Amino acid sequence: MAGNEQGNDLVAELDAFLAEHEAELIEFRRDLHAHPELAFNEHRSTRRVERRLAAAGLRPVTLPKGTGLIADIGAEQASDAERPVVALRADLDALPMADDKDVPYRSTVPGICHACGHDVHTTVLLGAGLFLAQRAAAGQLPGRVRLIFQPAEESAGGALDVLAAGGIASVGRIFALHCDPRLDAGQLGVRSGPITAACDRIQVRVSGPGGHTARPHLTADLVYALGKILTEVPAALSRRVDPRSSLSLVWGRVSAGTVANAIPDGGVAEGTVRCLADEAWHTAPDLLKELIDSVASAYGVHAELSYQRYVPPTVNDQGSAAMLSAAALDVLGAGSVVQTPQSLGGEDFAWYLESIPGALARLGTRVPGSVVSHDIHQPTFDVDESAIAVGVRAMAATAVNALWDDGAIVAQPLPGVTGA
Ligand SMILES: [Zn+2]
Ligand SMILES: [Zn+2]
Repeated sequence: MAGNEQGNDLVAELDAFLAEHEAELIEFRRDLHAHPELAFNEHRSTRRVERRLAAAGLRPVTLPKGTGLIADIGAEQASDAERPVVALRADLDALPMADDKDVPYRSTVPGICHACGHDVHTTVLLGAGLFLAQRAAAGQLPGRVRLIFQPAEESAGGALDVLAAGGIASVGRIFALHCDPRLDAGQLGVRSGPITAACDRIQVRVSGPGGHTARPHLTADLVYALGKILTEVPAALSRRVDPRSSLSLVWGRVSAGTVANAIPDGGVAEGTVRCLADEAWHTAPDLLKELIDSVASAYGVHAELSYQRYVPPTVNDQGSAAMLSAAALDVLGAGSVVQTPQSLGGEDFAWYLESIPGALARLGTRVPGSVVSHDIHQPTFDVDESAIAVGVRAMAATAVNALWDDGAIVAQPLPGVTGA
């Protein structure tokens, strides 16, 4: 934790920075909102961010597929391996839906809308980056900060691309925010442990010899076996996995056969696997294969499982969540940091946390006192733009505090303390 003096300095510096830049940031967000781009097509957004960072003296690098960018602050210290690196991440992409709002910054692109608030995340990260760059230039950044503007969160490939490009190499911790219309602007929702859920898809294909329904004993009764898989596998899961992980398999499609008196030779079932706990998510594919195989083999049919990973649960590291919470409290004031529940939604920030510790927090975007909250992924979604300054304060303070804390650990290693 930074001391009070440090905290007070930071508040005064953030006040001064935002007095000068808040209007510019709101304008920046409105421009992104009016020009939304889908996953892996964020060329204009990438350029806009790139130019603004370059104007502040940073040297952003575009990701290999041409959208998304990374910029280091305090990069002149790159040779010093002892200095901690903290990453802050935002996402650039919009959603394939119409914008139903009647505002001057309404989407100008038919059928595409920033309905998940990624325009706000990008603007918040830009603001925090400009502030931290100013601090670094004054010699007041005790380490390096990496800004990650990732593409394609909604299609769930963006975070993996950043990882493949070495985007978190040498990063010790990573933080991100996501808009939350259930919280008032001015509030930040924090949680230690899992904050979003895993959601995967499965397909089971069963096959057998087929035959007449008069003689199921001479063939393999494939429809009966498929029915057993549909009911017994979800039931067995609840007895094989810790119920607190809430690993659940729900079928959405099933199909087999064409006529009443013929046992078909093939059938298929498809469903989703949702899960709140990371450990259970890791074991789910093997466990499901084992259960499906054992039911199928009892009836003499062959079953093939195809398991499509989407995202793991986002599991906030306790230490990182505490740093974020303390930093936000310092710069936002008492009552601004609240506990938030785990949601069943998926978020690809989870992929970063599979490799390094970090935390995702929820940025309140509801107009305080308003009874209407426009949910994300709705064509009417919008935010109280005062949330942008709140996000800048929280992200910048979190980076500074994490650098101080991790710097202290690097300078004085304690037995058994890894910094994670
Ligand atoms: Zn979304
Ligand atoms: Zn989102």
